[in-house]
Amino acid sequence: MLEQAMAIRDQLAAWRRDIHMHPELGFEETRTARMVADTLAGMGLEVQTGIGKTGVVAYLGEGRPAVGIRADMDALPIHEENDAPYASQNPGVMHACGHDGHTAMLLGVARLLSQMPDRPAGQVRLIFQPSEERADSENKSGGLRMVEEGALDDLDAVIALHVASEKPAGKVGIDAGFITAAEDSFYITLTGSGGHGAYPHYGVDPTFILAQVINAIHGIRARRIDPTKPAALSIGAIHAGSTTNVIPSKVEISGTIRTYDEVTRGRMKSELEQALHVARALGGDFELRLVPGYPATNNDAAVAELIRTTAEEMLGADALLPPEQGMGAEDFSYMAQKTPGAMFVLGAQFDDRDRPHHTPVFDISEDALPVGAAMLAEVTCRLLKQKG
Ligand SMILES: [Zn+2]
Ligand SMILES: [Zn+2]
Repeated sequence: MLEQAMAIRDQLAAWRRDIHMHPELGFEETRTARMVADTLAGMGLEVQTGIGKTGVVAYLGEGRPAVGIRADMDALPIHEENDAPYASQNPGVMHACGHDGHTAMLLGVARLLSQMPDRPAGQVRLIFQPSEERADSENKSGGLRMVEEGALDDLDAVIALHVASEKPAGKVGIDAGFITAAEDSFYITLTGSGGHGAYPHYGVDPTFILAQVINAIHGIRARRIDPTKPAALSIGAIHAGSTTNVIPSKVEISGTIRTYDEVTRGRMKSELEQALHVARALGGDFELRLVPGYPATNNDAAVAELIRTTAEEMLGADALLPPEQGMGAEDFSYMAQKTPGAMFVLGAQFDDRDRPHHTPVFDISEDALPVGAAMLAEVTCRLLKQKG
């Protein structure tokens, strides 16, 4: 499989560059979806478009067992600073998370499996989802939309990969259990009375309350959560006041909570509310609004093990990266909740320079593309045999 994938390396790179040059934000991936649908139709696949707004689903074979493979197609609102010949031609929009590579690799899987004479019986479902990076006005991301519209129905397993620009190209990281965190956003308004800067004693100063609230909030992880459970809470924005001699009447704070298990997730939220009572003790008040984000991605143990053994056999034991969990969030989690599934990490380091995800200098090594396509295709075949 790896040899076959290496033989289409140039095609994979060409697809990836085409997508990279024409990045589109979440739920706006119309050109990308058309390119994907046309390419798949050209290979003779049955294709459905407009799933989850701008998603595409294609089928190889039918019935059960059925294995899904997911790629995401959206880019980010970042202006690319790289001057590569394939740099973004859409100012202010950039594939800075590698989803262009994910989409190209899944097209590669279609090519590999559609030309495979002895493909195992069953259905391969290619799931190209929109908008992994952002939710729509109903707070739903592309992955959730695809699940809701049935793209994951009647599957026996689902797999995906994510490139990692900081890890050596072609190396594979896989772990069972939680690999990405659940994400919740919080929005707090602290209220006081405001007043004249020269007469603080006549009013309630919400910026003074803010100082105590920050301490109380950052005490949650340290003092109120089981030390063996992963959890993070970060404040991302604080806004108050407009001039030197007026004490503002309110302070707005927002931030993110990251956890793995649902018990800790609930506890972080209730402890946040509890901590805010400091505001009332000091004569002010608070309002708290919590907006739930993606759940944690929980890799199925059996699917993860199959990915690990496939990587070991196809790429060699030294191609495996040490297991690693992160507090980032991924909306593949909705798919892995619906169907036993697993996502693995594919190293894609471009050069010696630091090129972090979600930055204007992000780039990936195209040497990783055939490895990723071969891994997805081979794991899919093994899953079909195992479940058949
Ligand atoms: Zn991203
Ligand atoms: Zn991503």
